[in-house]
Amino acid sequence: MHKTHTCGELRESHVGQTVTLAGWVNRRRDQGGLIFLDLRDRWGLVQVVIDEAENPTAHAVAHTVRSEYVLQVVGTVRRRPAGTENPDLPTGDIDIVADSIVLLNESKVPPFLINREENIDEARRMQYRYLDLRRPAMRDNIILRHRTIKFLRDHLDAAGFVEIETPILFKTTPEGARDFLVPSRLQPGKFYALPQSPQQLKQLLMVAGFEKYFQIARCFRDEDLRGDRQPEFTQLDMELSFVEREDMLQFMEAMVLALAKAVVPEKTIKYQPLRRLTYTEAMEKYGSDKPDLRYDLEAVDVTALAAQSAFPIFQQAAQAGRPIKVLRAPGLHAKRDNPAELLTGEGLKRLMKELEDLVKTVGAKGLAYMALPLDENGEVKGPIGKYFSVEQKAALFEQTGARPGDILMFISDKPEVVYASVDKLRRHIADLLDLADPNVLDFAWIIDFPMFYWDEENQRWDPSQHMFTMPMPEDVPMLESEPGKVRGSQYDLICNGYEVGGGSIRIHERALQEKIFPLIGQTMEHAREQFGHMLEAFEYGAPPHGGMAWGIDRLVMIFAGAPNIREVIAFPKTQAGGDAMAHAPSEPEPKQLQELYIQVLPVPKKDDDTKS
Ligand code: ASP
Repeated sequence: MHKTHTCGELRESHVGQTVTLAGWVNRRRDQGGLIFLDLRDRWGLVQVVIDEAENPTAHAVAHTVRSEYVLQVVGTVRRRPAGTENPDLPTGDIDIVADSIVLLNESKVPPFLINREENIDEARRMQYRYLDLRRPAMRDNIILRHRTIKFLRDHLDAAGFVEIETPILFKTTPEGARDFLVPSRLQPGKFYALPQSPQQLKQLLMVAGFEKYFQIARCFRDEDLRGDRQPEFTQLDMELSFVEREDMLQFMEAMVLALAKAVVPEKTIKYQPLRRLTYTEAMEKYGSDKPDLRYDLEAVDVTALAAQSAFPIFQQAAQAGRPIKVLRAPGLHAKRDNPAELLTGEGLKRLMKELEDLVKTVGAKGLAYMALPLDENGEVKGPIGKYFSVEQKAALFEQTGARPGDILMFISDKPEVVYASVDKLRRHIADLLDLADPNVLDFAWIIDFPMFYWDEENQRWDPSQHMFTMPMPEDVPMLESEPGKVRGSQYDLICNGYEVGGGSIRIHERALQEKIFPLIGQTMEHAREQFGHMLEAFEYGAPPHGGMAWGIDRLVMIFAGAPNIREVIAFPKTQAGGDAMAHAPSEPEPKQLQELYIQVLPVPKKDDDTKS
């Protein structure tokens, strides 16, 4: 072994011991006769002292080393001279007096500083990911991820679950995204699909009688990337037999709370037991099925009241049956740095223009508002105040809970636009007012999803979750007559504005499963061809079952307080779906394509073709 101890573990209790360490030079300070090296490994940093007078050979080596050189150091642990301790460093009470230094490898000057937290261009970080991962913040994220997965494995093992791997080369497993296809050489012209999730396989494991299954499963979905989406990602995938929705909610809730307590004990969990919101409630109040609940900011329906005002647009909206909602931003009319003063007229205009531009991105035509004064006698600012009588204003303020200095924003449009606007505004205002406490985890359940939503483009119903979700038992009779009213047994776990998990009780009877296909626009013939194995399996004693999958990347991202999931994935893809280090995807050798009987058609040039 190159080392007897890690750099991070040495303390006063080791004083006097001879130790062998190995790691990277984090920093070198050359004071002539005395050289200080901070040696770093995965566990931490320790200071090594080399005194030319005592050890000229080691000093000569130390003189040549630079940042990120790899060294082995043999030395004696010493208490640091009084006054030179470093309270910021866990090893700060001691240092190592070097007996010998062996240079194990040199390093070129790294393309960015590893020993200092600073903003580094992400493209560069991706290209040199192995160096990026040396940075303590990234190291900590990856270790947090390991701890999370380890906790889950142990927890589930203790609860009687079996971890079972399912194939990566498989058949289409619809989760609503595009499949990644892999050509088969042995069966030319045919393709495997990479699993969007192990959905069918885990259900088949229930038919097989395992009763409690889990897997840390890699899933593949060919969709556009976002901060919380990658083409391949990791799920904690679970399925249980003989359970109902309530059993699932309770089991999952206990597990997520135990997990958070174990891996991020410093975070506060705001609500226990977790709150449960119906899908409709979430959409009406927050405009999203994954609202950030760390702050209130609830939209209030003021249709009835606003319709009575003299503002023609509100009158027309109410007549057309379009909702009018108000979002109240507490204290937003006041100056950020001086809440006792209102924004200037210009300042208010600029702010409202910014917010209006934001809702325009989701289809809203404008954003009416009333900005309240700081005291009773002041004047309400904004273009629509004049259309409301004194009484109407008073009623409006009462209904929305308005307080001095607030801004009331009015959104009236088609429901989808109202929801999207409320969601956008909530998130943006929370940012402006600093409402989302990074130390809080606010998990909650969203339940009672509609089973289907209407796909205007294709003129058919699409499953909100996937086609294996069981309708709520009391809604089954409406399946054929009023599919839009059927609720699915789906449940989503949300946290701080993200969906971190989702699942459902499943259909386990062939007859019911077969009813779903025509509703979602699939012919029976196609359904039997794609999912015949599922339908057949349901005829061999399939137990009632249900499951869930947690998005590990998102969960760890939230735990780490990271801005996107790339920060918690060792080797993520870039925004354009590529690997900037190894340059994947890449063109195959012509011979590889020949073996597969594949010909590539000319690809039209796009502007973003330069992105990797
Ligand atoms: N397979 C589902 C998903 O990936 C989760 C589940 O229903 O268990 O979202």
